Amino acid sequence: MPTDARESEILSWLEQQQAPMLELLGALVNTDSGSFDQEGVARAGHVIEAHLMGRNLPCELIAQGDGSVSIRSTLPSREPAASNAHVLLLGHRDTVFPKGTAAERPFRVENGRAYGPGVADMKAGLVMNAFVLEAFARAGGAARPLVALFTSDEEIASPASRATIEAAARGARAVFNAEPGRPSGNIVSGRKGAMFLTVEVTGKAAHSGSSHDQGISAIEELCRKVQALHTLTDYTTGTTVNVGLITGGQSVNTVAPRAEAKVDVRFKTMAAMAEAEAAIEAVLGHTHLRDTTTKITAKAAFLPLEQTPASQALFDLYVAAAAELGMTVGGEYTGGSADSGFTAAVGAPTVCGTGPIGEKAHSPDEVCHVETLIPRAKALALAILRLDA
Ligand SMILES: [Zn+2]
Repeated sequence: MPTDARESEILSWLEQQQAPMLELLGALVNTDSGSFDQEGVARAGHVIEAHLMGRNLPCELIAQGDGSVSIRSTLPSREPAASNAHVLLLGHRDTVFPKGTAAERPFRVENGRAYGPGVADMKAGLVMNAFVLEAFARAGGAARPLVALFTSDEEIASPASRATIEAAARGARAVFNAEPGRPSGNIVSGRKGAMFLTVEVTGKAAHSGSSHDQGISAIEELCRKVQALHTLTDYTTGTTVNVGLITGGQSVNTVAPRAEAKVDVRFKTMAAMAEAEAAIEAVLGHTHLRDTTTKITAKAAFLPLEQTPASQALFDLYVAAAAELGMTVGGEYTGGSADSGFTAAVGAPTVCGTGPIGEKAHSPDEVCHVETLIPRAKALALAILRLDA
């Protein structure tokens, strides 16, 4: 098939897919898959598996350390050439919403807007990736292998999926992460990285009336450390530290034996991440009240999506492909983090936010702009085609 015919076959097939895309989106949204609801994330996986298998697309399950799976669908290249680096279409199945949310506010479409938990972030992106993959399968494949990956735990920084994502991204020619497009239609050209820490301070309990001097207040120690942590924020470099949650103490009349803080750290570069980690360690290592102990009891991190020349070139290619279809797309930097940081960090040219346009993610008002499902799918398909134009 000549290139132009293949291209128009792919694009015109995608144009016909709005109804089945919405059907798959509805099935996914109505399947609760909060990150901590492993059974739900697995069920959302079954919806994708059934879809892929029903359409004769390859489907493999990749077992992960916590018992979860990522689903991978690999479409071989049209003309097998061992040197052809693959293209990765990335997306996560989990949402931030607990079990029961879909029953409370099931999928619905009203005035061109689709609603429901995870509809934009990022079940619409999963649907788009699955249909783009199928469009290429029907046309006999792309010039390069296409790999679609449906992961399990992005909303909690991908502790289980990270290794799967990094393995899938290594050596890729391009990674397109289908997080929701910005309300402006822009995609994401850079993201901050993030680190989430739980810090626990232990002191010594004592009756605050009869034996105050015997106690050591974990709350006081923690509060002093919180102040020091907050001084690490530097808007000029973009590094921020936010202690978003604190708990502690036992009763009002007890010197607090224990206190805990949850800390959110954001940074623009890997170097800034290393600096922040060292500074935080120094703060936590400095003891104010004798005989308190401080330790980090949990830690998760997203790497930043740093703008490299290769990612910039991929961004330009996507923007040009969208422009061919009459769409004006720009790039935005966001402080929000995503799996695209992991793929960029292993050296794969990466763009993010290629999914259908969404708004108000992580809130009950989350919406997906239905009229963007097909244009975004077409822009992605054309960008893949243009990689080898
Ligand atoms: Zn997301």
